[in-house]
Amino acid sequence: MICSCGNEAFYYQRYSNKYLCKECFKKDIERRAKKVLGKDIIRNNVKIGIGISGGKDSLVMACILKKLFKHIPNAKLICFFVDEGIKGFREKAKEYIKEFCEEQGLELKIIKFEDEIGYTLDEIVKNDYLSELNIGRPCSFCGVVRRYLLNKHALKEGCDYLAIGHNLDDFCQTILMNYVEGNVKNIIQFGKEFEGEGFVKRIKPLKLIPEDEVRLYADINNIKYQKEPCPYSSLSYRHRMKKVIKVLEEDKPGVKFSILRGYEKLLKYMDVKEEVKRCEICGFPCSGNICKVCSWLIKLKEISK
Ligand code: SF4
Ligand code: ZN
Repeated sequence: MICSCGNEAFYYQRYSNKYLCKECFKKDIERRAKKVLGKDIIRNNVKIGIGISGGKDSLVMACILKKLFKHIPNAKLICFFVDEGIKGFREKAKEYIKEFCEEQGLELKIIKFEDEIGYTLDEIVKNDYLSELNIGRPCSFCGVVRRYLLNKHALKEGCDYLAIGHNLDDFCQTILMNYVEGNVKNIIQFGKEFEGEGFVKRIKPLKLIPEDEVRLYADINNIKYQKEPCPYSSLSYRHRMKKVIKVLEEDKPGVKFSILRGYEKLLKYMDVKEEVKRCEICGFPCSGNICKVCSWLIKLKEISK
């Protein structure tokens, strides 16, 4: 099969019914990331924090951002890696990341759960602290703390934006999970993030790129990334939702884009004006008097006495 540029195609994009050669595929992926960011973000003197985990998504995102900002005067990129302390898993991720950042000439900051909250995630799980905190799954704790730490350090470094490697599939999973569980508040909050002082605006350059294509982009660009999943991920509801979306996409190619589009249309009709307060302990934006992470840390201190 032949790509529209005349070269031999290597990939059939089922949802667009197009055959693409490697170069056109790369351009297509980078064009979509550029479209999501727009001119407001791709501009002079901007500083972007990049959350990287060592998986394909975050490394592909960092690689694309490096390309997009290459010729932008005085644009700075800095990578943040959160080490949760998951034995046998995060050490490997760290190796991939160090190599990647060195190759790409990207600055890297490593943030450890242990230094920041006093425990590794393994210790939290092993000591059964999750049930003491009334948290069902490790990801529910880990995800919130990771988000908190990334924001904290991006703020400290003076970043204008914090880039997160969520691909199209991740968006669809979150949207459907919240619909199915009836988490109306989360549905709205997911689309309308906190803005303002104390919060670095999050950007998601891979929003319009399906997971399979992120993987393909990594492979054809020889990006080495961690392939093993986190040992706690199979316990997640997200993992099950992934399987459901796969079935839907097989039946109807492009359904992921329609899930996202439908959700974005719906968002326009949903308006919650929630008062944003400041955590009395750490000063971070939150909806109550004390943020989730600080309240967990207080409880953890009590438990471990
Ligand atoms: Fe944390 Fe869950 Fe991600 Fe593992 S899969 S790193 S536990 S959020
Ligand atoms: Zn706090």
